[in-house]
Amino acid sequence: MREINENKIKPAIVSSIETGSIGEELGFEIGDQLISINGIKPRDLIDYKFLIAEEIIELNVLDEKGKTHIIQIEKDQDDELGLAFSEALFDGLKQCNNRCPFCFIDQQPSGKRKSLYLKDDDYRLSFLYGSYLTLTNLSKNDWLRIEEQRLTPLFVSVHATDPSLRSKLLRNPNAINLLEQLAWFSKKRIQIHAQVVVCPKLNDGKALEKTINDLFSFAQGDYPVVLSVAVVPVGLTRFRPSDDGLIPVDAECATNIINQVEPMQKNFYKSTGSRFAWLSDEWYLIAKKPLPTLNSYEDLPQKENGVGSIRSFLKSMEEATTDLPKKIYQKRTCSWVVGKLVENELLKPYKRLNKINNFTLHLYGLPSPYWGQEQIVTGLLTGQDLIKGLKGKDLGDELLLPSVMLRQGEKIFLDDMTLQELCYSLNVPIRIVHDAQDIVNKALGKA
Ligand code: SF4
Repeated sequence: MREINENKIKPAIVSSIETGSIGEELGFEIGDQLISINGIKPRDLIDYKFLIAEEIIELNVLDEKGKTHIIQIEKDQDDELGLAFSEALFDGLKQCNNRCPFCFIDQQPSGKRKSLYLKDDDYRLSFLYGSYLTLTNLSKNDWLRIEEQRLTPLFVSVHATDPSLRSKLLRNPNAINLLEQLAWFSKKRIQIHAQVVVCPKLNDGKALEKTINDLFSFAQGDYPVVLSVAVVPVGLTRFRPSDDGLIPVDAECATNIINQVEPMQKNFYKSTGSRFAWLSDEWYLIAKKPLPTLNSYEDLPQKENGVGSIRSFLKSMEEATTDLPKKIYQKRTCSWVVGKLVENELLKPYKRLNKINNFTLHLYGLPSPYWGQEQIVTGLLTGQDLIKGLKGKDLGDELLLPSVMLRQGEKIFLDDMTLQELCYSLNVPIRIVHDAQDIVNKALGKA
């Protein structure tokens, strides 16, 4: 059943057209607005994909001059149109109705761009991009849609399976029926990846054990509902209220969590062949313990959530630096900036690159005075942190800046500073780097 509030649905604005695609052949242009497909307005990318999966389709399109075009196409059912849109949701973002004390959005300073304060809790973004949702704001129609369009897997923030504890953590009286929701997923054959944000003295210890075991009870049989669990430490900033009752994770707490979860992994592995619950990299870095081997993360189901991502990156870095030249012909110096928490892990590839004659790489692992955190992951460094940490340092010919520091698709840092402002302030050309090979290529001036 389709929940229709036609007025809420905006046209899908074309942002790019694939070369050689049906869309290009039809004469689509950037900025064109797709109003409907076979008379139905798509609410989001998911609807769009469903609606174009027909052999005969009729598109209603408004061009930039305001002229309407009705386009009829006959194609193979699974042929794509090759269009991308400026947004994934055409009827607005479903926002969160919780008030978690550890919410990162609420731990930001006030007065920034509105979009920095949007609390996304949208099941469609979870399905499309793997963002986490809590399941506390779904209407009856949303549940029906998840079932009908088979939106699987979803990514669910669990935090605790005990109803009253989950309700306390999310500060939401409606957050009590997670286990029933998992039973519904089981009946409907929808799968999830789960996340538990651990807040010391709130949902660690026995509560964490119960949460992981409850989730594991949905991970067995021929159709496991819970595919994996990521256990991540709570992140706290200096902007939170002093009376929020939250305690930062320290080395002792991180060691306790590792000692608690690793034996559970072993048991899960014995009974199902999968470790099922993984600790994010941060636990090991905070505890100053070696990261687990890459193999132990199996198929890295929670890599995007910082679980095994360093091991995976180091492997790619090893591959990208196995065949380095002995020397480069033109002298070159570069700098590479990362979060202080991960700096030590990167020393091996950094040293390997510095063996190249005529080439010098500086590695800067920075803390975040902006968030008030000494040890921080790369993705949370802000423009202000970079200025504070790099001003007056030898940055060489270029600064290599990991793309994870920028808001997706934009040249803006988490503190609202633009890339251009940073460039101007540091007075150095900046190159955005995306992955290991890209870092090596750009460091050596190849790309
Ligand atoms: S569910 Fe997420 S966005 Fe909503 S309050 Fe909690 S942490 Fe913040």
